[in-house]
Amino acid sequence: MSIRPIYLDCHATTPVDERVVAAMLPYFTEHFGNPASISHLYGWEAEAAVKQTREILAAAINATPQEIVFTSGATEANNLAIKGVAEAYFQKGQHIITVATEHSAVLDPCNYLKNLGFEITILPIQKDGLIDLIELKKAFRPETILVSVMAANNEIGVLQPLAEIGEMCHQRQIIFHTDAAQAIGKIPLDVQAMKIDLMSLTAHKVYGPKGIGALYVRRRNPRVQLAPQQHGGGHERGMRSGTLYTPQIVGFGKAIEIGLAEQATETQRLTQLRQNLWEPLSKLSGIHFNGHPQARLAGNLNISVEGVDGAALLLGLQPVMAVSSGSACSSATTAPSHVLTALGHSQKLAYASIRFGIGRFNTQQEIDIVAKHAIATIQGLRNSAFVSVGS
Ligand SMILES: *Cc1c(COP(=O)(O)O)cnc(C)c1O
Repeated sequence: MSIRPIYLDCHATTPVDERVVAAMLPYFTEHFGNPASISHLYGWEAEAAVKQTREILAAAINATPQEIVFTSGATEANNLAIKGVAEAYFQKGQHIITVATEHSAVLDPCNYLKNLGFEITILPIQKDGLIDLIELKKAFRPETILVSVMAANNEIGVLQPLAEIGEMCHQRQIIFHTDAAQAIGKIPLDVQAMKIDLMSLTAHKVYGPKGIGALYVRRRNPRVQLAPQQHGGGHERGMRSGTLYTPQIVGFGKAIEIGLAEQATETQRLTQLRQNLWEPLSKLSGIHFNGHPQARLAGNLNISVEGVDGAALLLGLQPVMAVSSGSACSSATTAPSHVLTALGHSQKLAYASIRFGIGRFNTQQEIDIVAKHAIATIQGLRNSAFVSVGS
């Protein structure tokens, strides 16, 4: 087998932690019951496991277990939150506020609603990737029903000021949704302190399995109404029908448990690794550090490189490292990243960007190899560009 590139794409997905796999396995075979079967042991076992994950998730964000609705991931949770609120509150108003740097799983449902007649305000970001709270304040209207601002950005790692946004929404009785797909298990989240009404979660960005997520739905102060987007047997208090996927739910709980237990030490370790990667790269000329230097995920480093072609850069890096570039993450399109262009970068500079997503299983030794190869690649491309221009 050939040597595989070093995995540094932890914002796309993460490997499942072996402790998570071990917790899941019995729920495929021995404990295979349907958690909705209330008349026998098989159902009770599965229901107990689901209940445990509900409790873990609730505790992780300072919610109650009844406020957790399982979904297939953050995409579905975002759709349920945004379209569910729009459908339940359209008589109150038809205006929604979101941000230019949101994930497509937020922007696309908003676009869909726009086609149905809703009005959508898309806030710009500042040079550091943070939203301007004064702009948010100006965007509020009497008919605003929902504000959706992500917790942590999947490209540039920027952490938005959730508590301030939550306070502003709460004062105006506007529902506040946050997409916390990149944040759960990595930064402290508290739906009470931050006045969050809806929060989208997923397991596979935090060493859990793909295909499982949740939506936190506030039940008190205020009680948030949601129109279900999937109808059926009335599971999850009618908000999301479909037989619960017990092994995935068990894995989700275990992943969050581990994430929280190791959060403080891991944040420190990842911050150090990121610093050790940035330091040598920063010595090159024409390198932009994207996003706020402090208000960011520990494992995220995103840079834009002047004087190189984006496609050639990625091609040069690929044999050694698995990273993402500055083109749209949906591989079907080759548009430049909407997050990097929202930062004010030209299309060319946006393409010539690298997202390093450092995670639990990366080591200092790997970071050294990656830094060395990235520098050599950038210098090589710049030199060859110089030669071809000069000749
Ligand atoms: C990955 C991601 C999603 C999509 O989550 P899935 O569970 O893969 O559907 C949504 N929002 C953000 C910010 C993400 O990083």
